Amino acid sequence: MADCLFCRIAAGSIPCDKVAESEQVLAFRDINPQAPTHVLLIPKRHVADSASGLEPGHAGLIAELFGLAARVAAQEGLGGGWRLVTNVGPDAGQSVPHLHLHLLGGRALGWPPG
Ligand code: 5GP
Ligand code: ZN
Repeated sequence: MADCLFCRIAAGSIPCDKVAESEQVLAFRDINPQAPTHVLLIPKRHVADSASGLEPGHAGLIAELFGLAARVAAQEGLGGGWRLVTNVGPDAGQSVPHLHLHLLGGRALGWPPG
């Protein structure tokens, strides 16, 4: 989608600090990190708008998102633990309507989240 920020990052028309990629998924550092490691994992092709839009046909993509997250966590040295977050809608603070996971780690993250 031409007017989607994450589609433009996936296409390379907006630069990003890429940490890894797989066939369908791109991982890059969040521009406003909330932890020492804060990586976004996005499908390279637009998936609107969030986890609430997922269907059975996305099963392979979801496995790939989680699989690449685990690979990045290992690459980042997050042996002490890490967290995946996906925000859905305004109450969760979602700002980009393209499915994405936040990978957070590198400090004690606390539970429950704020
Ligand atoms: P959301 O709030 O939708 O769950 O997550 C969107 C994330 O994208 C935010 O954490 C925000 O900091 C990040 N973000 C927004 N614009 C950019 C950008 O241009 N580049 C990168 N790398 N991250 C961005
Ligand atoms: Zn998009």
